[in-house]
Amino acid sequence: MVCVYCGAPTKVTNSRQQQRNNHIWRRRKCLACDNIFTTTERPELSTGLVVRDAEGKLRSFNRDRLFISVYQSCKHREVGADEATALTEVIINELVGHAKDGVLEATDIAQAAHTILKRFDKTMATFYAAYHPIIF
Ligand SMILES: [Zn+2]
Repeated sequence: MVCVYCGAPTKVTNSRQQQRNNHIWRRRKCLACDNIFTTTERPELSTGLVVRDAEGKLRSFNRDRLFISVYQSCKHREVGADEATALTEVIINELVGHAKDGVLEATDIAQAAHTILKRFDKTMATFYAAYHPIIF
């Protein structure tokens, strides 16, 4: 990775694995300007997943679309956006286990989201179900 300040090569001066979320944190130092910055490496679970909708059409998984549907369901909460971000991560982690050859059924996404939201806040799950009436 090159320096974010000047574009010169950098070296890793410190690195730590976070077991909880499987992230790797790295401290980098620029070899030219000596500036220091941090990078985080994490698995991009949503890339490469494909969704099959009710008509059997395939489209690539869209993390933002899932986030929006989760966010719509937690507007009654004070820190809705932050919670929606965290909950979207949890749902994606769960979905990766459901995918067969990288393909997810649209109903699997809604069901996993509903189950996880219900665990967190029953009102959210109710709102979510209201936005996805075909499935429930
Ligand atoms: Zn630099």
